[in-house]
Amino acid sequence: MRLAGLLVAGAVALSGAPAFAQDRERSEHEQRVYDIYRDIIAFRTAKGHGQVDDMVSYLTARLSEAGFADEDIMVTDYDSDGDPTQGLIVRYRGNGSSGEKPIVLLAHMDVVDALPEDWVRDPFTLTEDNGYFYGRGTMDNKYGVANLTGTFIRLMEEGWTPNRDLYLVFSGDEETGMVSTRAQAKWVAENVDPDFVLNSDAGGIGLRDDFEPLAQRVQAAEKTFVTYELTVTNQGGHSSRPRKDNAIYELADALQKVRTYEFPVRATPLTRSYFAALGQAVPGELGAAMRTFAENPEDAAAVTTLRSVPEFLGTTGTTCIATMLRAGHAENALPQTATATVNCRVFPGEGVELTAQRLAEAIGNPDVGITMLGDPTESPESTLREDVGAALEKSLMTRFGRPLPIVPYMESGGTDGMHYRTLGYNTVAISGGASRPQDVYAHGLDERMRVDAFYAGLDHWTIILKVLAGS
Ligand SMILES: [Zn+2]
Repeated sequence: MRLAGLLVAGAVALSGAPAFAQDRERSEHEQRVYDIYRDIIAFRTAKGHGQVDDMVSYLTARLSEAGFADEDIMVTDYDSDGDPTQGLIVRYRGNGSSGEKPIVLLAHMDVVDALPEDWVRDPFTLTEDNGYFYGRGTMDNKYGVANLTGTFIRLMEEGWTPNRDLYLVFSGDEETGMVSTRAQAKWVAENVDPDFVLNSDAGGIGLRDDFEPLAQRVQAAEKTFVTYELTVTNQGGHSSRPRKDNAIYELADALQKVRTYEFPVRATPLTRSYFAALGQAVPGELGAAMRTFAENPEDAAAVTTLRSVPEFLGTTGTTCIATMLRAGHAENALPQTATATVNCRVFPGEGVELTAQRLAEAIGNPDVGITMLGDPTESPESTLREDVGAALEKSLMTRFGRPLPIVPYMESGGTDGMHYRTLGYNTVAISGGASRPQDVYAHGLDERMRVDAFYAGLDHWTIILKVLAGS
C-alpha cells in the first residue's frame, strides 16, 4: 500500500495534472492488475522482437503463484511466418455442477510495433500523464490480458469455484499471421468445445466528449478482410513506337470502374439494430438517415447519406478500395505489366468468390486478371446471447449504478474472434475498457487509455464470470 502511495505521488509530481488515482490508494485488486499491466507493457511483443515468450513466462509465474496447477497451464510454441511466438491457455477448473460446457475468454499478447524515437514517451514503459496511461498495448490488447489474468488470480485466491470450466486463451500473433490463433481455435474446438466465446479485444464502453459513458458496444460480427491484385500484361516494346494497347492505361481504366462501383446494399438484424440505437444518439441528417435505414434499408436517400461517411459506409455493404500500385520497368519502355492492389472488406455471407466476380463485372475487361492474395477467413455473424446480455447488464449496473444501452455492431475486421465464429462458436467481444472515439490510438502513436476507465473496468470480468458460471 505504501508502495502504491509512492507510485501515485510520483506520477502526480511528474505530470502535475489531476489523475483519478491520486484521490485514494489502490485496492489490492487494482494494485494487482496495475502491476501486471505495467509489467507486460514493458515486453516488446511485436513481430521480430522475440519477447512473447518472456511475457508468457511472466504470466505463467503469476498464475502458478496464485495456485493454478502446472497441468492447467499450457504454453505452445508457434512459428508465425518465420517469427517465433507463443500461445498461452489456462484452465480454471469448475465443479461441473451446472452441467454446462466451458466458456472461453480471448485476448492477444502481441502488439503492433512502436518506434520509441517517434513517440513522445517510451512506448514500452507504462507512463501516467494527464489522466491517461500511455504505452503500446495500453488499449490493444494488454488491458484485456492484464484484466483477464488479474481476474483469474483474484477468483482463485478468493477460493471461488465456477460451476463449469473457464479457459483463458491468449494468442501470440493476432496482429500479423494469426498462426497461433488458428491453431488455438482448432485446439479449443477439439478439446474444449465451449458453450460460447467472449473476447476482450473489441467492444467496450463508448464515452461522450466529456467522458460520460454513452453505451456498451458489443462486437458480434466481423467483415472478411481480403486483398485482390488486378494485373494487366502486355507484350511491351519501345516507347518511341507507342501503341494504343497499354498495360498502364488498361489498368487505370479498370481502377476507374472500381472507384465508381457501388456494392449492393446489405442489412442484417445486427446492423439494423446498430443503426437504430446509434440513430437515437446522433443528431441531424445523419441520425435521421440511421433511423430510416434501420426501418427500411432500401431507402435510397438514407443509403446515400450513410455511404457518404467513411465510418458508416462499410456497415451498409462490401467495400473495395485501391491501396497500392506498381507498373512498368523502364522510363523508355512500354509497360509489360501493371498491377494494382485492391483491399476489400466483405459483408458477412457475401463471400470472397462473389466479391471477385462483382469486381470482374464492374471492370468489364477480361484482360484484367484478378488474383486473390492470402487465405481469408470468412466468419458468420454471432448474436448477443440472452445470458451474456444479462451478465453485461449486471456489470454495467454494478460499475456505473445505472443501465447503459447495449449496442451490438459489426467490425470491419479483424480479431481472433473470427476464427472461433468460423468454427461455429458464438463469439462476442465485450471489453471492460472505455474510450472516446478521438482517443482510439490503437496501432498508432501515443496509444493511451484513460486512467479512470482503466480502474472502472477492473470488476467487469469478475461480475460477468460470477453471473455466467456462479453456483
Ligand atoms: Zn487487438
